[in-house]
Amino acid sequence: MESMKQIIRDVPDFPKEGIIFKDITPLLSDGAAFQKVIHSLKNRYAEKQVDMVVGVEARGFIFASALAYALGAGVVMIRKPGKLPYKTFQKTYSLEYGTDAAEIHQDALRSGQNVVVVDDVLATGGTLSATLDLITENFANVKILEVAFLIELDFLNGREKLKGVPIHSIIHY
Ligand code: AMP
Repeated sequence: MESMKQIIRDVPDFPKEGIIFKDITPLLSDGAAFQKVIHSLKNRYAEKQVDMVVGVEARGFIFASALAYALGAGVVMIRKPGKLPYKTFQKTYSLEYGTDAAEIHQDALRSGQNVVVVDDVLATGGTLSATLDLITENFANVKILEVAFLIELDFLNGREKLKGVPIHSIIHY
């Protein structure tokens, strides 16, 4: 999987100065590479009775839906406020400047379900921490088996914010 680093593009100063953005679009446009990523996740969870794969807007949806299809599981979307049409639960979280929020449909998960949460990049962990809170605070008896990322930026210590939940990252920087 380390070879994936050769097709993930660094874009300096995007979306603002000082950030090196990990652009995964070259990986997504390489059919064999994308398939390899989804196969590795599928193999990891195939025997775990996953009911739902939870994807985080927006790039998380790409991996979540492919993985869910491969597992025969359902997909749940975590979206920015105002995007989901039905009744929602919301979690507000702080960013470097200001706040953001994440929403989930109130009927997205049921008691007893096993879920895997998927996103493309674990950076500071703010987004995933809010996502996990959204699930654990609103849905009793839902088991988060693991949180899976394509990329983890180790130097930002995002996993410190996700204590207590198993984390799997395919590629580390
Ligand atoms: P965070 O809440 O800081 O862990 O990151 C939130 C989201 O921003 C992640 O889901 C990523 O999609 C995106 N992101 C943050 N930093 C980067 C980066 N350096 N390169 C690509 N995406 C990033």
